[in-house]
Amino acid sequence: SPAMASEKAAALAATPSDGPTIFDKIIKREIPANIVYEDEQVLAFRDIAPQAPIHILIIPKIRDGLTGLSKAEERHCEILGRLLYTAKLVAKQEGLEDGFRIVINDGPTGGQSVYHLHIHLLGGRQMDWPPG
Ligand code: AMP
Repeated sequence: SPAMASEKAAALAATPSDGPTIFDKIIKREIPANIVYEDEQVLAFRDIAPQAPIHILIIPKIRDGLTGLSKAEERHCEILGRLLYTAKLVAKQEGLEDGFRIVINDGPTGGQSVYHLHIHLLGGRQMDWPPG
């Protein structure tokens, strides 16, 4: 909401849950998104509140319990690898030849606000360390 002061505030306000998320609506094309990559298992779209010139979210189309990385089970190894590989493909597609950053926020302390596993792909500017 416009009242939401920051991504950190959103993360602290978000309750970890296995209920539907906004990403389900994006997958079903019920709300618009700027989709940059799609295959049978994975969808990638531009973040609505970009933190860098390029900021893309890479998600599994079927959540299968992966509300966040902390919920990963052995059966998720294949999709986890595919998400990471997709980040590389999209980075190349976006022209991020000089480098990029990937981030996975997990849980309230990790700054997670949407409980459907997603990889952030950030690029197009110099990244800082440590992250905020
Ligand atoms: P996280 O805080 O790691 O859970 O990341 C969730 C991300 O989803 C944030 O960077 C939000 O800006 C982004 N986001 C939320 N709603 C949308 C949306 N409708 N379309 C694109 N990105 C979104």
